[in-house]
Formats: sequence, C-alpha cells, structure tokens
Amino acid sequence: MKLYDTSRREVVEITPLVPGVLKIYACGPTVYRDAHVGNMRTFLLTDLIKRFAQYQGLNVELIQNITDVGHMADDTGLGGIDEGQGDTEDRVLAQAKTESVDALSIARKYEDNFHKDLKLLNIQKATKYPRASESIELMIELIKQLIEKKHAYVGKSGTVFFDAKSFSSYGQISGNKLDELQPGYRFEGKSDPDKKFHADWALWKHAGENRTQLTWETPWGRGYPGWHIECSAMSIKFLGNKIDIHTGGIDLRFPHHEDERAQSNASANTEVVNYWIHGEHLLFEGRKMSKSSGNVLLVSDVLAKGLDPLAIRLSLLEHRYRSQMDLTWNSISASHKNLNRIREKMQEWSKSSGSVDKNYLAQFESALNGDLDTNKVLQLLRTLEKDETVSNGDRYQTVLKFDEVLGLDLHHAPEAKKEVEITPEIKGLLETRAKARLEKNWKLSDEIRDKLIALGIGIKDSDSGQEIFSL
Ligand SMILES: [Zn+2]
Repeated sequence: MKLYDTSRREVVEITPLVPGVLKIYACGPTVYRDAHVGNMRTFLLTDLIKRFAQYQGLNVELIQNITDVGHMADDTGLGGIDEGQGDTEDRVLAQAKTESVDALSIARKYEDNFHKDLKLLNIQKATKYPRASESIELMIELIKQLIEKKHAYVGKSGTVFFDAKSFSSYGQISGNKLDELQPGYRFEGKSDPDKKFHADWALWKHAGENRTQLTWETPWGRGYPGWHIECSAMSIKFLGNKIDIHTGGIDLRFPHHEDERAQSNASANTEVVNYWIHGEHLLFEGRKMSKSSGNVLLVSDVLAKGLDPLAIRLSLLEHRYRSQMDLTWNSISASHKNLNRIREKMQEWSKSSGSVDKNYLAQFESALNGDLDTNKVLQLLRTLEKDETVSNGDRYQTVLKFDEVLGLDLHHAPEAKKEVEITPEIKGLLETRAKARLEKNWKLSDEIRDKLIALGIGIKDSDSGQEIFSL
C-alpha cells in the first residue's frame, strides 16, 4: 500500500517494521462534545488503512486514545488565545460546567456517543481505546525520564516544560523550524515566565487553586497533563518504540504531532513513528466544518432526516482522503439513493452463483494501493454495475470483495421503495424553490431542500428542473 507521508512529503510504500503486522496509532476524540462528520472523515481514513491492510493479509494493531483530560480550548494549534493568561479551560471541565455535571460523566457520555457513531459508519473497532485520565502514571513516568535526559525542566510554579531546543530535528513533520517560529505565534502559554524559550511547551501543568477536578499528585506538585504528552505515553505503552503509522487530521500536524514526535523520540532514542498520515479538512455546504464557526454536521443530524448513515461514508469515499472536499445535503441524499440502487442490484445478482472477476479485482487493488484512491474504486464499481459482459453471480462476488474495504453493507436489502406522495404542502415547497432558483436565491433554495429532506424527500437539480425521490 502506498500512502502520502507528511514527514517525507511524498507518496511512499508502506512497509511494516515487523512483517505481517501493521501497528497504527490514531489520535482519538476529545470527549467534551459529539464528534462531527469532519472528525469522522479522519477516523474513516484510519479505518480504510486498517481494512485494506487486513484485506492484504496483515494483522492490524490499532490504538486510539480517548482524550478526557488536558485538552485546553487553545490547544488547537490555531493560535489566538493565550492559555498562560489563565483565560482558557480544559475542554472537558468547561463542558461539565455548562451541563452542570461532573467532568467524568461528560467524558463518558461523549465517549459512548463516539462509539455509537463509529458503529453507524461501519468504522471497525480499534484494538484498544486507552483513556488519558487512566494513563496518568504512564505520563508521569515519561516526563520523569525526559527531565532526567535534560529534554524537560521544571518551572518555579511546578509546571514542567519540554525544552524544544534540546531536540534538533524539531519541525520535520510540519516544516516549522524553531529558528523560524516567532514568539507568541501558535504557542500555548507564551507568556509563562517559567518558560526558557517561547517554543517550549507544557508536559505537565501546575493546577491553580481554581482547578479542583481532574488533577493528580506528582513530584512537581498537583496538576494535570498537557495534551501532547498523552499520545506519546499511550502510543509507546501499547505499541512500543516502533510504530508503523500515525494518523490524524491535518490540523494536528502542528503543534500536536510535532510535539508528540519530539517527546517520543527523545524518550525512546529512536524515530518512533515511521509514517505520518494526515486527512484533509472537510467543508460542509461550502464552509469549513468547525464548532467555532457553528457549521457542524453530526451523524445524528443525518439519521434525523431518515437517511442511511452509510450515505455519509459513501459521500466521503467519493474523494481521496487528502483532498479537501465539500459535503452537502444534496450529496448525502444522492449517496443514500445510490446505496439503495446498488443494494437492489446486489439482491438480484445474489440469485446466481459466480466467482470474483480477476480483472476488476486487480483494478480495485491497484486503485487502493495507489494512495487509497477511493474515488477511482467507486468509478470502477459503477462501471462493473453496468458491465453486462460480467455475469450477475460474478458481479455479486466481486462487489462483496470490494465491500470488505468500502464497508458500505452492499449485501444488505435495500429499503422498501416508497412512492412520493405530492401533498399540497410539498407542491408549494417545490414551486417556491423553483422560483427561488430562477432568482438565484440559493439560500432559500437550500432551506427548502432541507425542509423536503426532513419530509423524507430527496431532490436532485438538473437541466430539466427538480427531480424528487423518496428517501
Ligand atoms: Zn494525539
């Protein structure tokens, strides 16, 4: 399998360090809210790598952490707020305050939701999901080691910092070299007087009097871990000093992964992660999907409209993981319809016996081998669907094989077909929408489309006008 390695800046052949076993570490969710579909796209990338590796006969060991402590509101790497001023909070604690419950109940609630969403999207389970709050001892040990090796120092307040200058290849993943980084730019706690150098970051943070939950006793006083150290501690604990692949969203490239690499390598005296694979941003209806912008789509939103959650998976597969893509309600409802169409054909084809078509399978494997070109695989699927030279039984067996990686449940029975009953309300909505489109009032047009989807009606715009179908 070939994938784009951010660190080497090219597509490389993935060769497991231990033959037959692929070790993957995936940055998991911070469980203070529901993961949105943009986060799911990153988790799907890991799932595709895992499924294709298994398809090729490898055993996959996948560890995905659950961040239930230490992820501060400004740890995004996007800059802005200065945590050193004490004006930001642990995300889990902040949400606990909002929902008036204790921090760990918040964490467990959103962790449960995360697992439900993964299941709905057919994302296979990891080998283990270690929680940050249950790995504190590991982090303390790792920090002790880094202090001993002079890669970290304890500030007067009891906060422990990583000494960025002690790690000479800092910047290899992101290209952000230390001497080019400006003070205060994209750094947490830039004004902390205990810091020796602006690019140093906190491994362990001293808890002030205001913080009463999620703190632990350490040789440096009572406090809580920084976000980056948890991934180093958990990945090394569960996968060892040699990990094949580390995945995450492109946002995590810097500083999260850069800092993690420095901590892990400094502790293990070796390059711990062989390949860094990042998934691109997801836009939703033309804008970046993020909580701060209010432009968020949840798996539950799609369910609420009566759409198959695997329509999300199909829509995401239409684009390669490292190209930015725009997900829309239109594309999700079209995918919902496509899923049902293929499932209907599969039911028909399943009535004949057959075997896997070698030619199609070779093309399928070559598309995935070539940096997970899922778009090409879906085109191939559509060609096969129409290819009358391949027998029904062969088509059935071949698509089943494709679905081991695609994970779309294509052997499932389609939903019973429903006729669309055009009530006066629907007729009115369609007329208003047609008029809005003539006037190029896209906002109104989209609002009506959403109303129709809520009524169980999908809509497709073409040259001949609006085509409706039952969802
Ligand atoms: Zn991480």
